[in-house]
Amino acid sequence: MFIQAFPAGPIETNAFLVGDEASGQAIAIDAPGDVTADLIDAARAAGLTIGLIVLTHHHWDHVLDAPALKAATGAPIAAHPESAPLLASPAPPAMPIPVQVPAITPDRLLRDGDTVSVGRYTFRVLHTPGHAPGQISLYEPDAAVLFGGDTLFADGFGRVDLPGASVEQTVATMRRLLQLPDHVTVYPGHGQATTIGAERGWLTRLVDRR
Ligand SMILES: [Zn+2]
Repeated sequence: MFIQAFPAGPIETNAFLVGDEASGQAIAIDAPGDVTADLIDAARAAGLTIGLIVLTHHHWDHVLDAPALKAATGAPIAAHPESAPLLASPAPPAMPIPVQVPAITPDRLLRDGDTVSVGRYTFRVLHTPGHAPGQISLYEPDAAVLFGGDTLFADGFGRVDLPGASVEQTVATMRRLLQLPDHVTVYPGHGQATTIGAERGWLTRLVDRR
């Protein structure tokens, strides 16, 4: 599996180019500000075509470039149904940013249990709310990779003090992620990749306290 991270935008949000080199099929996961040119250059260099733009959740730092990336690639935008109204009517960011957050209408809705095919890979959509109500993760069991947006980081989870966030949903989501095997690599929306095994200790203590 081709995986390349592109930290971009004012708070270093990770976009990912994920592809199957054999078929040339690829998807983009999240679209932080000013990432479009880098994503397209990397796809071209790797012989990949971006066929879908998946937004893990509606937060501005993950979606600023989604319209530009769609315009440049022709790829549809996909998100969870609970993200759709929040994407369509974006709230002003908590921090001042120099650009306006675009209103986005997803072309395709991804629900828990849906699948996203990328060449020989089949990603399962997991609804992983908590940090945001419509947050989704893409899990590929054969390649043992999970792209979770701000669901799970190395040593932490996405902040729960934002509108629409929920501690209870976060704990339920973490309980679900604990069912994944230790060797699954987690690619988060900020910072470096980790594994389920590396996070299992504190995750287990977190859910056991509840
Ligand atoms: Zn977020």
